[in-house]
Parts: sequence; structure tokens; C-alpha cells
Amino acid sequence: MAQRIKRDDNVLVIKGKSRGKAGAVRQVIPKEQKIIVTGVNIVKRHMRPQFQRPGGIIEREAPLPWANVKLLCPACNAAVRVGFRRLDDDRKVRYCKKCDANLD
Ligand SMILES: [Zn+2]
Repeated sequence: MAQRIKRDDNVLVIKGKSRGKAGAVRQVIPKEQKIIVTGVNIVKRHMRPQFQRPGGIIEREAPLPWANVKLLCPACNAAVRVGFRRLDDDRKVRYCKKCDANLD
């Protein structure tokens, strides 16, 4: 399946406990069909002190399923559905199904 969400895309979370939050995609994990979005789905982990590292609580973003997000279209500024099409030069690009802008 073609990839609808790419690194550095801005996305809006539409499902799950982070619903309503938006951020930039920092990492895509195709194998798990998950993405990491900056500032979204923060989990706290309690770390025990280890050699050369103090213990404490660290916060980091947990991956979330990419099915839980919608792309925020840079052209029309809305959470949109993404389609694919082939350009005249045979390049395959994503496009916004709302305003028809090419996204790649
Ligand atoms: Zn659009």
C-alpha cells in the first residue's frame, strides 16, 4: 500500500486519547504502520538510575497508528483525505481530495 503520511507532514489526530492534537510527523515506522508525531501521545517512563545516568521520569512520544491521523493540507489548511495520482512526467504524487493541490 502506498504511504499516505510522510515525515515532516503536519497531521491531526482523529482517534484515540490524543484526538484533536496536531503536530509534525517526526518518524514513520512502515513495518508497524505507525508514526511518531512531535508533542503528541507523550508517555512518561520511570527510569532507574544506571551507570552515568540519573534516574527519574522521562517523557517521550509513543508511536501511534497512522490510521488515527489525518493529513493537514498546507494549501487549504484542513484535515483532509489523501489521494494519489500520476503526473505528466510519470511522477506519483499525493494530492488533497478537498482542494486538489499536489502535496509532494
Ligand atoms: Zn487541501
